[in-house]
Amino acid sequence: MSRQAEETNQRTAVVVGGGLAGLTAALRLAEADHRVTLLEARPRLGGLAFSFRRGELTVDNGQHVFLRCCTAYRGLVERLGATDQVEIQPRLDVPVLAVRGDRHRLGRLRRAALPVPLHLAASLASYPHLAPLDRLRVVRGALALQRLDLADPALDQLSFGSWLRAHGQNERTIAALWDLVGVATLNARADEVSLALAAMVFKTGLLMDPGASDIGTAAVPLGVVHHDAALAQLERADVTVRLRTKAVEIKTVSATVGPPHAVRLENGELLSADVVVLAGAQESAAALLPPEAIDGQHRLAELGTAPILNVHVVYDRKVLRRPFFAALDSPVQWVFDRTPHSGLAGSTVARTHPGAQYLALSQSAVRDEIDLPVSELRARYLPELMRLLPAARGAEVLDFFVTRERTATFDPAPGTAALRPVAATRIPGLLLAGSWTATGWPATMESAVRSGHAAADAALRGTGSRVPVDRGDGRWPR
Ligand SMILES: Cc1cc2nc3c(=O)[nH]c(=O)nc-3n(C[C@H](O)[C@H](O)[C@H](O)COP(=O)(O)OP(=O)(O)OC[C@H]3O[C@@H](n4cnc5c(N)ncnc54)[C@H](O)[C@@H]3O)c2cc1C
Repeated sequence: MSRQAEETNQRTAVVVGGGLAGLTAALRLAEADHRVTLLEARPRLGGLAFSFRRGELTVDNGQHVFLRCCTAYRGLVERLGATDQVEIQPRLDVPVLAVRGDRHRLGRLRRAALPVPLHLAASLASYPHLAPLDRLRVVRGALALQRLDLADPALDQLSFGSWLRAHGQNERTIAALWDLVGVATLNARADEVSLALAAMVFKTGLLMDPGASDIGTAAVPLGVVHHDAALAQLERADVTVRLRTKAVEIKTVSATVGPPHAVRLENGELLSADVVVLAGAQESAAALLPPEAIDGQHRLAELGTAPILNVHVVYDRKVLRRPFFAALDSPVQWVFDRTPHSGLAGSTVARTHPGAQYLALSQSAVRDEIDLPVSELRARYLPELMRLLPAARGAEVLDFFVTRERTATFDPAPGTAALRPVAATRIPGLLLAGSWTATGWPATMESAVRSGHAAADAALRGTGSRVPVDRGDGRWPR
């Protein structure tokens, strides 16, 4: 415990992990008058959602998208003073491109200013990637989905794919609609995903509030929000941030005097604390939790992981006019124009190629591709981009590289819910956070922030600390 905390009798907290879950928990505990130390093994904050430099480019490790219904993530962005660094579409509008032969078909999944479910009806009625009968199938599936009770534990035992087929869906409706959205949000195909998680995503995003699915992205590199703005706010909140600092052991003592926990660092240093929040991924929690700290601790490893691949291509000219699109009937999934965020326009490349454009392909559920050599990925994706984007046919590729996140999310397979622990452990003052914990959300930024709130709420409950009111909507409690 720091001398200052000792002198003021202030409660102390150590948060292990500077991803979005850890940032949230650290800020909340600091707001509740704890003296907080945040430990992060890497040289930067932001965890799985970060940026790095590649020559003159600033590159995001992976394109990150959130929806208007991600109230907790948006609350964190606001708390970081970064609201003007993210953008949300005024209305959901996803261009969906399919190319057969020389025929380019562009569909739009967009919402009208109408109540649910009519907000999507017009868009579906004219969606060119589904035959009229299949559009009716989708309506039938959506109505059945809307009737599901998300609190029913039986949903997690079924796969979304088997449920879809039992409710009138066929391979085409699954590919052109359910997987188009589901693969990107859940990081698994319908047959491999828990119905509980899929139903949660589709009900919350598309079937409850008309504006819920409006798409948001950072208007700057992720690191500007998740590292720069976060570090500034943590420092302002008096949190001690220690980067490149790894926790290797948690010791809990049953002392009647002094803080009950001690966090041992790689260099042997011991930090004592009243509250410890483990906000790393599940392997980190499994390594640090004292024995028998949570139910089913021996099963944590069963919560598998799933990869996401991003393919980055810099062209010598503009090949895409839209900020993003989704591709259908193609190995390409979602394509984003990263030119404005990456600093490409101000780089030396832009002096010789003033119209140069940087595209990032976000490829989810790619177990079979994540370890392929760059040359193979290049041979797979460049011709496919030429097929989808005619302007790419005559363009020169100035740079091609990939970012591989092998453990991007937990594996959202059926049966996952039972493996996700709640924030509180059996040990008072020792809490878990992370997008993999029991938030009900898939592994997303929203889940991470919600888990950070849950850990802070659990730590503060019953301590006499000023506990802000939890409004149950994930917004930043005030
Ligand atoms: C390529 C990619 C694309 C994605 N796309 C999206 C998207 O579009 N939308 C979306 O919402 N989500 C997306 N996600 C998921 C999202 O990034 C994560 O769910 C979220 O960032 C997880 O945050 P977290 O705080 O729970 O964990 P993490 O980000 O994993 O942070 C944990 C931190 O703890 C640190 N740590 C672990 N152990 C220790 C230790 N012993 N000592 C010190 N530090 C430690 C780690 O270094 C890490 O920084 C994507 C993820 C990836 C990888």
